[in-house]
Amino acid sequence: MRVIQKAKLIALVMIMVILGGCTQTEHSQNTITTTVNTYKEPVQSVVGNKYKVESIIKSVNVDPHSFSPSNNNAKQIADSKLIVSNGLGYDDWVNKLVTANSQDKNLIDFASEVLHKKNGDNEHIWFGVSNVQKLSNSVYEKMSKNDPKNKDYYKDNYQKYSKRLDKLIIRENKLKQKLNGKKAYVTEPLPYYLLKDLGVTIDNQHFAKAIEDDTDPSISDIENMQRGLKNHKVDFLVVNKQVTSGIITKMTSLAKKNNVPIIYFTETLPSNLGYYQWMNDNLNQIEKIVNE
Ligand SMILES: [Zn+2]
Repeated sequence: MRVIQKAKLIALVMIMVILGGCTQTEHSQNTITTTVNTYKEPVQSVVGNKYKVESIIKSVNVDPHSFSPSNNNAKQIADSKLIVSNGLGYDDWVNKLVTANSQDKNLIDFASEVLHKKNGDNEHIWFGVSNVQKLSNSVYEKMSKNDPKNKDYYKDNYQKYSKRLDKLIIRENKLKQKLNGKKAYVTEPLPYYLLKDLGVTIDNQHFAKAIEDDTDPSISDIENMQRGLKNHKVDFLVVNKQVTSGIITKMTSLAKKNNVPIIYFTETLPSNLGYYQWMNDNLNQIEKIVNE
């Protein structure tokens, strides 16, 4: 008897949750959606307590390059006040959902709209801290138009967050003094903008591109890199923790064997970290190498 009552109660609560969920999202548009969790903090920091920011790709366990959206994701896009995408083909799936739900005017395509990037440019744009600052600024501008009565609030929030990101840029400039002109290998063209900001050149672009395109790197690319690691031609190796393969494991162990420092980055953010903390941790790893 008790069990049945409990089951009935659970069923009732579930129906209420479903109904409540529908009516709320259909009419109030309290949510802002970002395609990847990387942009959750830069957006939430600006909109503060006025909107809830939800990401579609929420953890490092999903490969954003091979993601396909569900019906629930489509519904979330339809119900969002604003949608923030990376662009440059990184999250192309969102464009179809945005158009199908007549949300084009509510989309911020970070790469093309904010940074004016063109197809073929490196798509991992969040590795540039000043890029992310520009995204927050554009969220502030867009929200000031969408919701003008809170304009001052958004402006204040944006300025605070921008100052916070300035701290990362100051750290980068300090690191650059020691790193300028150095070389690194990367397993994927992930930290392109970060290494550029630090004055570090990527010395195996061709290899990295092949890994990202899911093709086999050429024999000569592999041999060059092996020789480079053995002869300490580079100062460190950057590994994308989210992508593993036989060749990457080989390169990683060769680097270890030859005492070439390794830095591990993730592509999206671990679910317990915001952008600032994640980038600060990345810089901690680089600083450790610099000080060794
Ligand atoms: Zn990538």
